[in-house]
Amino acid sequence: MNAARGQQESAQGHSLIAILHLIRDQSPISRIDITEILGLASSTVSVATAQLTARGLVRECGYATSTGGRRPVLLELNPAGGHFICVDLANTHLSLAVMDIGYNQVHELSRLLPVAGGDALFQTVLEALMEAAAWCEAEDRPVLGIGIATPGLVDSESGIVVEADNLNWHEFALRDKLAPRFSHPIIVLHDTLAAAYGEYLFGDPLHGPKAKNAMYVHVGHGVGAGMVLNGSLYSGGSGMAGELGHVVINPSGPICVCGNRGCLETVASHAGVVNAYRRALYEIRADYDLSGVGLEEIVSGAETGDVAAIRAIREAGFAVGLAIGNQVNVLNLDSVWLEGTLTHNQIFWDEASAILERVLVPKLRGTCTMSPSALGSRAGLMGIAAISLEHVL
Ligand SMILES: [Zn+2]
Repeated sequence: MNAARGQQESAQGHSLIAILHLIRDQSPISRIDITEILGLASSTVSVATAQLTARGLVRECGYATSTGGRRPVLLELNPAGGHFICVDLANTHLSLAVMDIGYNQVHELSRLLPVAGGDALFQTVLEALMEAAAWCEAEDRPVLGIGIATPGLVDSESGIVVEADNLNWHEFALRDKLAPRFSHPIIVLHDTLAAAYGEYLFGDPLHGPKAKNAMYVHVGHGVGAGMVLNGSLYSGGSGMAGELGHVVINPSGPICVCGNRGCLETVASHAGVVNAYRRALYEIRADYDLSGVGLEEIVSGAETGDVAAIRAIREAGFAVGLAIGNQVNVLNLDSVWLEGTLTHNQIFWDEASAILERVLVPKLRGTCTMSPSALGSRAGLMGIAAISLEHVL
Protein backbone atom coordinates (compact mmCIF):
# COMPACT_ATOMS: atom_id res chain seq x y z
CA MET A 1 0.00 0.00 0.00
CA ASN A 2 1.47 3.39 -0.88
CA ALA A 3 1.71 6.09 1.80
CA ALA A 4 -0.96 8.37 0.30
CA ARG A 5 -3.49 5.55 0.09
CA GLY A 6 -2.64 4.46 3.61
CA GLN A 7 -3.23 7.99 4.94
CA GLN A 8 -6.50 8.21 3.03
CA GLU A 9 -7.74 4.92 4.47
CA SER A 10 -6.67 6.01 7.95
CA ALA A 11 -8.63 9.27 7.55
CA GLN A 12 -11.68 7.30 6.40
CA GLY A 13 -11.30 5.04 9.42
CA HIS A 14 -11.20 8.06 11.73
CA SER A 15 -14.32 9.47 10.08
CA LEU A 16 -16.15 6.17 10.53
CA ILE A 17 -15.21 6.05 14.22
CA ALA A 18 -16.20 9.67 14.83
CA ILE A 19 -19.51 9.20 13.02
CA LEU A 20 -20.32 5.98 14.86
CA HIS A 21 -19.54 7.60 18.23
CA LEU A 22 -21.74 10.57 17.36
CA ILE A 23 -24.64 8.37 16.25
CA ARG A 24 -24.31 6.39 19.47
CA ASP A 25 -24.31 9.56 21.61
CA GLN A 26 -26.96 11.55 19.74
CA SER A 27 -29.38 9.04 18.17
CA PRO A 28 -31.54 9.67 16.27
CA ILE A 29 -29.52 12.01 14.10
CA SER A 30 -29.62 13.05 10.44
CA ARG A 31 -26.71 13.00 8.01
CA ILE A 32 -26.95 16.79 7.77
CA ASP A 33 -26.47 17.16 11.53
CA ILE A 34 -23.54 14.72 11.45
CA THR A 35 -21.95 16.77 8.68
CA GLU A 36 -22.36 20.01 10.62
CA ILE A 37 -21.28 18.71 14.03
CA LEU A 38 -18.17 16.91 12.80
CA GLY A 39 -17.27 19.44 10.12
CA LEU A 40 -16.91 16.71 7.49
CA ALA A 41 -17.75 16.86 3.79
CA SER A 42 -21.30 15.66 3.09
CA SER A 43 -19.91 13.10 0.60
CA THR A 44 -17.68 11.65 3.34
CA VAL A 45 -20.67 11.34 5.68
CA SER A 46 -22.80 9.73 2.94
CA VAL A 47 -20.16 7.12 2.12
CA ALA A 48 -19.40 6.40 5.80
CA THR A 49 -23.04 6.06 6.89
CA ALA A 50 -23.71 3.80 3.89
CA GLN A 51 -20.82 1.58 5.00
CA LEU A 52 -22.01 1.51 8.60
CA THR A 53 -25.55 0.71 7.48
CA ALA A 54 -24.36 -2.04 5.12
CA ARG A 55 -22.43 -3.62 8.00
CA GLY A 56 -25.52 -3.59 10.18
CA LEU A 57 -23.99 -1.25 12.76
CA VAL A 58 -26.33 1.67 12.02
CA ARG A 59 -29.94 1.70 10.82
CA GLU A 60 -32.51 4.17 9.58
CA CYS A 61 -35.23 5.04 12.08
CA GLY A 62 -37.64 7.52 10.53
CA TYR A 63 -37.52 11.13 9.38
CA ALA A 64 -36.65 14.47 10.95
CA THR A 65 -39.01 17.43 10.74
CA SER A 66 -38.56 19.16 7.42
CA THR A 67 -37.26 22.71 7.26
CA GLY A 68 -38.28 22.86 3.60
CA GLY A 69 -37.65 20.22 0.98
CA ARG A 70 -37.29 16.50 1.62
CA ARG A 71 -37.42 15.33 5.22
CA PRO A 72 -33.97 14.12 6.31
CA VAL A 73 -33.62 10.42 7.20
CA LEU A 74 -32.70 9.79 10.83
CA LEU A 75 -30.05 7.27 11.83
CA GLU A 76 -29.54 5.33 15.05
CA LEU A 77 -27.07 2.81 16.35
CA ASN A 78 -27.98 -0.86 15.99
CA PRO A 79 -26.36 -2.09 19.22
CA ALA A 80 -26.91 -5.77 18.47
CA GLY A 81 -25.25 -5.34 15.06
CA GLY A 82 -21.87 -6.33 16.47
CA HIS A 83 -20.18 -7.51 19.66
CA PHE A 84 -16.74 -7.71 21.16
CA ILE A 85 -15.42 -10.34 23.50
CA CYS A 86 -13.27 -8.38 25.95
CA VAL A 87 -10.86 -9.78 28.51
CA ASP A 88 -9.04 -7.96 31.30
CA LEU A 89 -6.26 -9.94 33.00
CA ALA A 90 -5.59 -8.82 36.54
CA ASN A 91 -3.02 -10.39 38.84
CA THR A 92 -5.24 -13.13 40.18
CA HIS A 93 -8.27 -13.35 37.93
CA LEU A 94 -9.66 -12.85 34.48
CA SER A 95 -12.72 -10.71 33.78
CA LEU A 96 -14.51 -11.27 30.49
CA ALA A 97 -17.36 -9.25 29.08
CA VAL A 98 -19.27 -9.54 25.84
CA MET A 99 -20.19 -6.01 24.82
CA ASP A 100 -22.33 -4.79 21.98
CA ILE A 101 -21.28 -1.78 19.92
CA GLY A 102 -23.33 0.46 22.21
CA TYR A 103 -20.96 -0.68 25.00
CA ASN A 104 -23.73 -2.54 26.78
CA GLN A 105 -22.46 -5.60 28.58
CA VAL A 106 -24.62 -8.54 27.50
CA HIS A 107 -22.67 -11.41 29.02
CA GLU A 108 -19.85 -11.83 31.53
CA LEU A 109 -17.74 -14.45 33.22
CA SER A 110 -14.68 -14.52 35.44
CA ARG A 111 -11.99 -17.10 36.15
CA LEU A 112 -9.27 -17.43 38.74
CA LEU A 113 -5.89 -17.46 37.04
CA PRO A 114 -3.52 -20.34 37.81
CA VAL A 115 -0.69 -19.12 40.04
CA ALA A 116 1.95 -20.79 37.89
CA GLY A 117 0.97 -18.58 34.93
CA GLY A 118 2.57 -19.46 31.59
CA ASP A 119 0.82 -22.03 29.41
CA ALA A 120 -1.66 -22.97 32.14
CA LEU A 121 -2.81 -19.36 32.31
CA PHE A 122 -3.05 -19.20 28.53
CA GLN A 123 -5.27 -22.28 28.60
CA THR A 124 -7.60 -20.51 31.06
CA VAL A 125 -7.80 -17.49 28.74
CA LEU A 126 -8.43 -19.70 25.71
CA GLU A 127 -11.21 -21.67 27.41
CA ALA A 128 -12.93 -18.50 28.64
CA LEU A 129 -12.83 -17.02 25.13
CA MET A 130 -14.17 -20.21 23.55
CA GLU A 131 -16.98 -20.35 26.09
CA ALA A 132 -17.91 -16.73 25.34
CA ALA A 133 -17.70 -17.31 21.57
CA ALA A 134 -20.01 -20.32 21.92
CA TRP A 135 -22.46 -18.20 23.93
CA CYS A 136 -22.45 -15.53 21.21
CA GLU A 137 -23.13 -18.11 18.55
CA ALA A 138 -25.96 -19.73 20.51
CA GLU A 139 -27.51 -16.31 21.16
CA ASP A 140 -27.06 -15.26 17.53
CA ARG A 141 -24.87 -12.31 18.46
CA PRO A 142 -22.36 -11.50 15.73
CA VAL A 143 -18.79 -11.05 17.00
CA LEU A 144 -16.60 -8.40 15.38
CA GLY A 145 -13.45 -8.92 17.38
CA ILE A 146 -11.65 -10.01 20.53
CA GLY A 147 -9.78 -7.58 22.79
CA ILE A 148 -7.41 -8.55 25.56
CA ALA A 149 -6.01 -6.13 28.15
CA THR A 150 -2.98 -7.57 29.90
CA PRO A 151 -0.39 -6.37 32.39
CA GLY A 152 3.26 -6.31 31.42
CA LEU A 153 5.16 -4.89 28.49
CA VAL A 154 3.01 -5.41 25.42
CA ASP A 155 3.77 -5.01 21.72
CA SER A 156 0.31 -4.29 20.33
CA GLU A 157 1.50 -4.40 16.71
CA SER A 158 2.58 -8.03 16.95
CA GLY A 159 0.23 -9.08 19.77
CA ILE A 160 3.23 -10.29 21.78
CA VAL A 161 3.37 -9.94 25.56
CA VAL A 162 7.08 -9.13 25.78
CA GLU A 163 7.36 -9.35 29.56
CA ALA A 164 4.70 -10.00 32.19
CA ASP A 165 6.36 -11.43 35.30
CA ASN A 166 3.10 -11.83 37.21
CA LEU A 167 1.64 -13.96 34.41
CA ASN A 168 4.92 -15.77 33.74
CA TRP A 169 4.68 -14.74 30.09
CA HIS A 170 7.92 -13.84 28.38
CA GLU A 171 8.02 -13.08 24.63
CA PHE A 172 4.59 -14.71 24.65
CA ALA A 173 2.94 -14.58 21.21
CA LEU A 174 -0.57 -14.28 22.63
CA ARG A 175 -2.33 -13.23 19.44
CA ASP A 176 -0.64 -15.86 17.26
CA LYS A 177 -1.43 -18.58 19.77
CA LEU A 178 -5.13 -17.60 19.83
CA ALA A 179 -5.52 -16.84 16.12
CA PRO A 180 -5.97 -20.44 14.86
CA ARG A 181 -8.95 -20.90 17.20
CA PHE A 182 -10.91 -17.79 16.19
CA SER A 183 -11.84 -16.14 12.92
CA HIS A 184 -12.07 -12.64 14.47
CA PRO A 185 -9.42 -9.91 14.70
CA ILE A 186 -7.61 -10.11 18.06
CA ILE A 187 -6.28 -6.97 19.76
CA VAL A 188 -3.79 -7.16 22.63
CA LEU A 189 -3.16 -4.03 24.68
CA HIS A 190 -1.48 -3.04 27.93
CA ASP A 191 -4.11 -3.05 30.68
CA THR A 192 -3.38 0.45 32.00
CA LEU A 193 -3.56 1.90 28.50
CA ALA A 194 -6.92 0.19 27.98
CA ALA A 195 -8.17 1.56 31.30
CA ALA A 196 -6.94 5.06 30.41
CA TYR A 197 -8.90 4.98 27.17
CA GLY A 198 -12.01 3.58 28.86
CA GLU A 199 -11.92 6.32 31.46
CA TYR A 200 -11.24 8.94 28.82
CA LEU A 201 -14.20 7.92 26.66
CA PHE A 202 -16.76 6.88 29.25
CA GLY A 203 -15.76 7.90 32.74
CA ASP A 204 -14.63 11.47 32.84
CA PRO A 205 -17.36 14.09 33.17
CA LEU A 206 -15.03 16.43 31.30
CA HIS A 207 -15.04 14.04 28.33
CA GLY A 208 -14.83 15.98 25.13
CA PRO A 209 -12.72 18.90 24.12
CA LYS A 210 -11.94 19.80 27.73
CA ALA A 211 -10.03 16.59 28.45
CA LYS A 212 -7.79 15.96 25.47
CA ASN A 213 -4.73 15.28 27.60
CA ALA A 214 -5.15 12.94 30.50
CA MET A 215 -3.45 10.30 32.59
CA TYR A 216 -4.87 7.24 34.31
CA VAL A 217 -2.84 6.07 37.29
CA HIS A 218 -3.24 2.64 38.85
CA VAL A 219 -1.81 2.27 42.34
CA GLY A 220 -1.82 -1.41 43.21
CA HIS A 221 0.75 -4.20 43.41
CA GLY A 222 2.69 -1.96 41.06
CA VAL A 223 2.14 1.63 39.97
CA GLY A 224 1.51 2.36 36.32
CA ALA A 225 0.04 5.06 34.15
CA GLY A 226 -1.73 5.20 30.81
CA MET A 227 -1.85 8.43 28.87
CA VAL A 228 -4.22 9.95 26.36
CA LEU A 229 -2.49 12.85 24.60
CA ASN A 230 -4.32 14.98 22.06
CA GLY A 231 -7.19 12.51 22.25
CA SER A 232 -5.07 9.48 21.31
CA LEU A 233 -3.48 6.77 23.38
CA TYR A 234 0.23 7.36 23.90
CA SER A 235 2.44 4.31 24.36
CA GLY A 236 5.85 5.80 23.55
CA GLY A 237 8.58 4.84 21.13
CA SER A 238 8.87 1.23 22.28
CA GLY A 239 5.60 0.82 24.16
CA MET A 240 7.22 1.64 27.49
CA ALA A 241 5.45 4.94 28.23
CA GLY A 242 3.62 5.08 31.54
CA GLU A 243 6.25 3.65 33.90
CA LEU A 244 5.20 6.12 36.57
CA GLY A 245 6.03 3.56 39.26
CA HIS A 246 9.70 3.97 38.41
CA VAL A 247 9.84 7.73 38.58
CA VAL A 248 12.49 8.39 41.23
CA ILE A 249 11.08 10.11 44.30
CA ASN A 250 14.12 9.74 46.54
CA PRO A 251 17.49 8.84 44.95
CA SER A 252 18.78 7.52 48.28
CA GLY A 253 15.56 5.62 49.07
CA PRO A 254 14.96 1.86 49.24
CA ILE A 255 16.01 -0.37 46.34
CA CYS A 256 13.20 -1.02 43.84
CA VAL A 257 12.38 -4.25 41.99
CA CYS A 258 13.75 -2.56 38.85
CA GLY A 259 17.19 -2.20 40.46
CA ASN A 260 17.11 1.58 40.92
CA ARG A 261 16.75 3.34 44.25
CA GLY A 262 13.78 5.30 45.56
CA CYS A 263 11.26 4.68 42.77
CA LEU A 264 7.63 5.65 43.43
CA GLU A 265 6.74 1.96 43.78
CA THR A 266 9.04 1.57 46.78
CA VAL A 267 6.63 3.65 48.86
CA ALA A 268 3.29 3.55 46.97
CA SER A 269 2.80 -0.03 45.73
CA HIS A 270 1.09 -2.40 48.16
CA ALA A 271 4.44 -3.91 49.14
CA GLY A 272 5.94 -0.42 49.29
CA VAL A 273 3.31 0.77 51.77
CA VAL A 274 3.84 -2.32 53.92
CA ASN A 275 7.59 -1.71 53.91
CA ALA A 276 7.11 1.97 54.76
CA TYR A 277 4.85 0.88 57.63
CA ARG A 278 7.53 -1.48 58.90
CA ARG A 279 10.13 1.27 58.79
CA ALA A 280 7.82 3.70 60.58
CA LEU A 281 6.92 1.13 63.23
CA TYR A 282 10.53 0.18 63.76
CA GLU A 283 11.33 3.79 64.60
CA ILE A 284 8.59 3.76 67.22
CA ARG A 285 9.19 0.32 68.70
CA ALA A 286 11.63 -2.29 67.37
CA ASP A 287 10.01 -5.39 68.86
CA TYR A 288 6.64 -5.41 67.05
CA ASP A 289 5.58 -8.66 65.42
CA LEU A 290 4.95 -7.60 61.84
CA SER A 291 4.20 -10.98 60.32
CA GLY A 292 0.90 -11.02 58.48
CA VAL A 293 0.62 -7.25 58.18
CA GLY A 294 -0.76 -6.27 54.77
CA LEU A 295 -2.24 -3.21 53.13
CA GLU A 296 -5.73 -3.84 54.51
CA GLU A 297 -4.44 -3.97 58.09
CA ILE A 298 -2.56 -0.73 57.51
CA VAL A 299 -5.62 1.01 56.04
CA SER A 300 -7.84 -0.06 58.94
CA GLY A 301 -5.04 0.75 61.40
CA ALA A 302 -4.87 4.29 60.05
CA GLU A 303 -8.61 4.67 60.60
CA THR A 304 -8.17 3.83 64.29
CA GLY A 305 -5.24 6.20 64.76
CA ASP A 306 -2.22 3.91 64.24
CA VAL A 307 0.49 6.56 63.83
CA ALA A 308 2.83 4.36 61.78
CA ALA A 309 -0.02 3.39 59.43
CA ILE A 310 -1.00 7.02 58.95
CA ARG A 311 2.62 7.90 58.24
CA ALA A 312 2.99 5.10 55.64
CA ILE A 313 -0.21 6.13 53.82
CA ARG A 314 0.78 9.79 53.90
CA GLU A 315 4.17 8.87 52.48
CA ALA A 316 2.48 6.98 49.63
CA GLY A 317 0.07 9.87 48.93
CA PHE A 318 2.89 12.39 48.98
CA ALA A 319 4.99 10.35 46.54
CA VAL A 320 2.08 9.72 44.14
CA GLY A 321 1.01 13.39 44.20
CA LEU A 322 4.59 14.52 43.65
CA ALA A 323 5.11 12.17 40.69
CA ILE A 324 1.80 13.19 39.13
CA GLY A 325 2.48 16.90 39.66
CA ASN A 326 5.76 16.61 37.78
CA GLN A 327 3.99 14.89 34.88
CA VAL A 328 1.32 17.61 34.81
CA ASN A 329 4.07 20.25 34.66
CA VAL A 330 5.65 18.51 31.68
CA LEU A 331 2.53 17.49 29.75
CA ASN A 332 -0.03 20.17 30.74
CA LEU A 333 -2.59 17.46 31.48
CA ASP A 334 -6.28 18.38 31.88
CA SER A 335 -7.29 15.35 33.93
CA VAL A 336 -5.68 12.68 36.09
CA TRP A 337 -7.70 9.64 37.24
CA LEU A 338 -6.57 7.42 40.07
CA GLU A 339 -7.55 3.83 40.73
CA GLY A 340 -6.52 1.38 43.45
CA THR A 341 -7.21 0.52 47.08
CA LEU A 342 -5.35 3.49 48.51
CA THR A 343 -6.93 6.01 46.20
CA HIS A 344 -10.19 5.66 48.14
CA ASN A 345 -8.42 6.56 51.39
CA GLN A 346 -8.89 10.12 52.59
CA ILE A 347 -5.44 10.41 54.21
CA PHE A 348 -3.81 9.32 50.95
CA TRP A 349 -6.03 11.62 48.93
CA ASP A 350 -5.47 14.71 51.06
CA GLU A 351 -1.71 14.26 50.96
CA ALA A 352 -1.61 13.61 47.20
CA SER A 353 -3.85 16.61 46.45
CA ALA A 354 -1.86 18.97 48.66
CA ILE A 355 1.55 18.17 47.17
CA LEU A 356 0.14 18.16 43.63
CA GLU A 357 -1.11 21.70 44.08
CA ARG A 358 2.19 22.75 45.63
CA VAL A 359 4.49 21.43 42.88
CA LEU A 360 2.51 22.72 39.91
CA VAL A 361 3.95 25.78 38.23
CA PRO A 362 1.62 28.67 39.16
CA LYS A 363 0.12 29.11 35.71
CA LEU A 364 -0.99 25.43 35.71
CA ARG A 365 -2.70 25.55 39.10
CA GLY A 366 -6.41 24.92 38.74
CA THR A 367 -6.06 23.68 35.16
CA CYS A 368 -5.85 19.97 35.99
CA THR A 369 -8.48 17.91 37.79
CA MET A 370 -7.32 14.91 39.80
CA SER A 371 -10.16 12.53 40.66
CA PRO A 372 -10.86 8.89 41.45
CA SER A 373 -11.56 6.71 38.40
CA ALA A 374 -15.30 6.82 37.70
CA LEU A 375 -15.32 3.35 36.13
CA GLY A 376 -13.07 1.58 38.65
CA SER A 377 -12.20 -1.96 37.65
CA ARG A 378 -14.46 -1.73 34.56
CA ALA A 379 -12.29 0.89 32.86
CA GLY A 380 -10.04 -1.74 31.26
CA LEU A 381 -12.93 -3.70 29.73
CA MET A 382 -14.60 -0.54 28.42
CA GLY A 383 -11.32 0.68 26.96
CA ILE A 384 -10.40 -2.56 25.22
CA ALA A 385 -13.92 -2.71 23.76
CA ALA A 386 -13.51 0.80 22.31
CA ILE A 387 -10.05 0.05 20.94
CA SER A 388 -11.32 -3.17 19.38
CA LEU A 389 -14.18 -1.34 17.69
CA GLU A 390 -11.82 1.30 16.33
CA HIS A 391 -9.51 -1.45 15.10
CA VAL A 392 -12.18 -3.23 13.08
CA LEU A 393 -13.48 0.03 11.61
ZN1 LIG B 1 11.88 1.07 40.00
